[in-house]
Amino acid sequence: MKNNRDKRLASQRKWKKENPEKFKNSLRKHAEKMKKAAYEKLGNRCNNPGCGWINYDGSRGCEDPRCLQIDHVNGGGNIERKKGVRTIGTYRHVLMDKKGLYQLLCANCNWIKRVSLKEHLGRSTGGL
Ligand SMILES: [Zn+2]
Repeated sequence: MKNNRDKRLASQRKWKKENPEKFKNSLRKHAEKMKKAAYEKLGNRCNNPGCGWINYDGSRGCEDPRCLQIDHVNGGGNIERKKGVRTIGTYRHVLMDKKGLYQLLCANCNWIKRVSLKEHLGRSTGGL
């Protein structure tokens, strides 16, 4: 005997199987929406006051979404990645977060922070 939830899941699975491209698109659209909302919440710019990036209008602090990355203020990113939280999960966490655990950094500032905190060592020796 099947309940409604099973029926719905089964029809979802069937739809996914028959429309793999549409399924991928709808996932991507959802991820893009979440990303936009998360970035907006975090101010849409690099949070490092010493960011050396200069925008087209001459202001400092990277505003280019292609370079911006979500950073855990306290460097907890490695732990969360090991738990298998995917990107979309991070966006959800950012949107639910009320403690200011996340910030936006541009790729440059993010790497500089990682190297200076030696987070990169933790990642290469951890895992596996
Ligand atoms: Zn920056």
